[in-house]
Amino acid sequence: MSLTAALSYARHGIPVLPVHTPDPRGDCSCDRGAACDRPGKHPRLRHGLTDASTDPRLIEMWWARWPAANVGLRTGVAMDVADIDSAAGWHGLTHLLGGSLPAGPRVRTGSGGWHLWFRPTGFGNRVHLLPGLDWRGAGGYVVAPPSRHAAGVDYRWVRRPGDELPAGPGALLALIEGPPPPAARHRPIAHPDRYAEAVLAASVERVAAAPAGCRNDTLNRAAFALGRFVGAGLLDQGDVVRELEAAARRAGLGRVEVRRTVRSGLTAGRRTPVDPSAPLLRA
Ligand SMILES: [Zn+2]
Repeated sequence: MSLTAALSYARHGIPVLPVHTPDPRGDCSCDRGAACDRPGKHPRLRHGLTDASTDPRLIEMWWARWPAANVGLRTGVAMDVADIDSAAGWHGLTHLLGGSLPAGPRVRTGSGGWHLWFRPTGFGNRVHLLPGLDWRGAGGYVVAPPSRHAAGVDYRWVRRPGDELPAGPGALLALIEGPPPPAARHRPIAHPDRYAEAVLAASVERVAAAPAGCRNDTLNRAAFALGRFVGAGLLDQGDVVRELEAAARRAGLGRVEVRRTVRSGLTAGRRTPVDPSAPLLRA
């Protein structure tokens, strides 16, 4: 059953990884057993997150080996997740968003919390955004339905994903982004367009030189950062796509992955354009 779900997530472009499983007593399937401090929540693969894949042959191989594996999903590629693990997190986020939570996909976790799914923001993980609220973005993962929690309860969908995920609400994104760095706060940029060109050149270099294992994350972050300049009209989207795709291909990433990551990063970045008159011009 978890294989079927894993394959379905992968078909939707979400990299999957097999995760350890708790037994009926709540002990972990890993060597540490009852002593494991994250029973049923950590990857079975040696390289964990970086081995996550959308390749159905790999996924079938993993589940042939571990048929009861919990399903881990890499975040920051096809979705980001607001991870609410207490009533305080639920109320805090509801309050932040003006009284109600977005009507997007929602998972009830095995511990009684919730996972809200959003389009990727380009941001990485953020722990304790609010009490009881974490953000799982680039470089993170979540345990997904129909996985089993150590408490004996399965993760389940309250509302399944439809065709398109909702964008992260502005107030939530502002919280994730955090305050601008103090040095930049009062320093307006003299030539925003030249600055944007420099950011583009530096980003392209970073992507082309990214080591295996960080390539997609680096590309995602670069696309998001540059999307903010595109959104402000300081860079041409066509130029950015062309340069980023070429750099990522040079770094060894596959065409399909590159196109998807560039598009989702840019789209997310464009929604929070930099303000050329003031402080937030950082990449
Ligand atoms: Zn364990």
